[in-house]
Amino acid sequence: MRPVFKKAAIYAAVISAAIAAEIAIVRLCSDREDGGDGPQVVRWPVMGTVAQMTSRKHVDELEFGELFMRVQASYSRVEQLLSAWNPESELSRLSAAGCTNWTEAASPEVRPCYEAALRLAEESDGAFNPRVGEKLRALGMGRGRYSRFDLGAIAKGFAVDMAAEEVERAMGGRYFSFLLDLGGNLRAVGAGEWRTGVRNPFRGVDASQPEICAVITLVGGESVATSGNYERFVEKDGKRLSHILDGRTGEHVSGIAGVTVVTPREYGAMLADGLSTTLFVLGPEAGAAFLKRFYPLARALWIPDEPASPRIIATSNMAGWLERADWPVSSLR
Ligand code: ADP
Ligand code: MG
Repeated sequence: MRPVFKKAAIYAAVISAAIAAEIAIVRLCSDREDGGDGPQVVRWPVMGTVAQMTSRKHVDELEFGELFMRVQASYSRVEQLLSAWNPESELSRLSAAGCTNWTEAASPEVRPCYEAALRLAEESDGAFNPRVGEKLRALGMGRGRYSRFDLGAIAKGFAVDMAAEEVERAMGGRYFSFLLDLGGNLRAVGAGEWRTGVRNPFRGVDASQPEICAVITLVGGESVATSGNYERFVEKDGKRLSHILDGRTGEHVSGIAGVTVVTPREYGAMLADGLSTTLFVLGPEAGAAFLKRFYPLARALWIPDEPASPRIIATSNMAGWLERADWPVSSLR
């Protein structure tokens, strides 16, 4: 797939994004300030998923192209350094060389990603565990499917934060309003609000279900990430197993269909990504207590894996703040 530039109707972008990413962009904006010049969207494949960059206000084509190249370069750089699948990545080479001190050995530009992963592991008592592959090997499982050190739960969010910095730097003090989306890791960059939809996790097994089940509005600087058992999973004996493992036991996590986390600017897209995986493992009760203790400004919702009676369990700061919910919402304290 080659990069596609288009100024097409907002809804076309909405639907295609919904299919590719875990989050659907419901309506980009209603109050455009550009006198009718539509938003610009570019999509391209990277890091095993689809990236999308949207500008609410029409910017000069050349400048938009240049921004796209900067964002693309950020993602490619992160992929080159942190891919667990590419044996040539820095992470794979360190892993093969038997590295033990990852934060020191890694290139300075990606150190924050290693640090955040190790911090999350410590704070969650190992529920989040970048060494889950090692754990599986120790248990005699995994068979090389998982690399020794895996930042797959956090690297995409980290890449989005790097790209956001690039956009902010390039646009300087001017007005701009961008939405970056890397495989369902979204960050609003610059001014303006973005309405985003939480994807219905049961649609994969029942296409007659609506595409989204709740609406969240992001303001500039905020990020949202989703972890689900529906986009990527492992099939074993005809059963679907989540690609998220409990880092403490090495077991596939069950019981939750999806988790969505919103973080403020201070936390960024990297933490939204890392937290969505952590909270998927912890579940609603322990997850809410974990957030209260370590990340009180994050908002989260869980969708239990009960397609017959779909519902949403939300932290109290999320429950009162959801713009729309199509299923019953219960609030955790
Ligand atoms: P996605 O990659 O689908 O966006 P996540 O952000 O939740 O979803 O990341 C899932 C990935 O994280 C898995 O594919 C695996 O590489 C890694 N992973 C799985 N379980 C854990 C865990 N307990 N702690 C840290 N990383 C994990
Ligand atoms: Mg994640």
